[in-house]
Amino acid sequence: MIESSLLIAGSIAIDTIETPEDRRENVLGGSVTYALIAAHRYVPCHVVGIIGTDFPKEGKDLYQSLASNLSDLQEVPGSTFSWGGRYLNNWDDRETLFTDLGVFGDFKPLLCEENKNVKTVLLANIHPELQNSIIDQSEADIFILDTMNLWINTTRPQLEDVLKKANILLLNESEAELLTNYSDPQKAGTELLNYGLEKVIVKLGSDGALFISETDQIRIGAYPVEKVVDPTGAGDVFAGAFSGILAAGGNEVEAIIQASALASICVEGFGAEKVLNCSIEDVTDRISYLQSILEL
Ligand code: AMP
Repeated sequence: MIESSLLIAGSIAIDTIETPEDRRENVLGGSVTYALIAAHRYVPCHVVGIIGTDFPKEGKDLYQSLASNLSDLQEVPGSTFSWGGRYLNNWDDRETLFTDLGVFGDFKPLLCEENKNVKTVLLANIHPELQNSIIDQSEADIFILDTMNLWINTTRPQLEDVLKKANILLLNESEAELLTNYSDPQKAGTELLNYGLEKVIVKLGSDGALFISETDQIRIGAYPVEKVVDPTGAGDVFAGAFSGILAAGGNEVEAIIQASALASICVEGFGAEKVLNCSIEDVTDRISYLQSILEL
């Protein structure tokens, strides 16, 4: 068994992002990319995903430098998954402009022997059937699950299969409401434990996050961001940091605090630019702030 490493499975994408103030094409994105950028700070990361032959060299270089195992990163002829999103004037609501699956359409994740034995797995946002396939191949102790409204709306039975097998679920309050019909995040999170999940983390945006287990309910605040530049990837950064800290032996509250700190940095830059280049001091200042407002 490999100790203290994290397997991350999800999407690797080329994004087009429109905010109320800016528009950029060819932004390196995808749930794995953001999660890896966050998680590699805490633990060696193994990547499961797929790219096409058009994937840019700078993207490959980034993966080479941040990941410690790329055995299950497939590169096949065709175009990399690409996604376009537009934020509305409130910066919270987002519409998908296009989703071009490219090589992702035929993706069959295959875990090598080493990756089957990684103890902690982050099932970052992808089609639940792919998440299920990873679970079926893996010998992990902990599966951390992230998802999105698309899968709740379009592939609910497959998602429910994954929910029954996962240990920890991360989702935001609107996804929690969509799954349970409870608008109260505390009620929704408690209801979700009925799938057999051990822990549920409901993210509340600028109001922080709620940690829910059979025995505990803990509210963690949010870092007050001065100016949002691009919210893309904040959820994946949160998932990556959270999973990395858990894989490294940390507890959930510590993990949520660090995840919130990094996610707050992510939204202050376009794509991953700020979270990739932030200073240790910036991260630790935000962690200290979040610890100081923690009510236990
Ligand atoms: P977030 O803002 O945390 O929801 O993550 C945004 C990232 O998710 C973008 O970089 C997209 O490339 C990726 N993404 C968007 N739609 C999907 C999808 N249907 N499946 C997997 N990844 C997606």
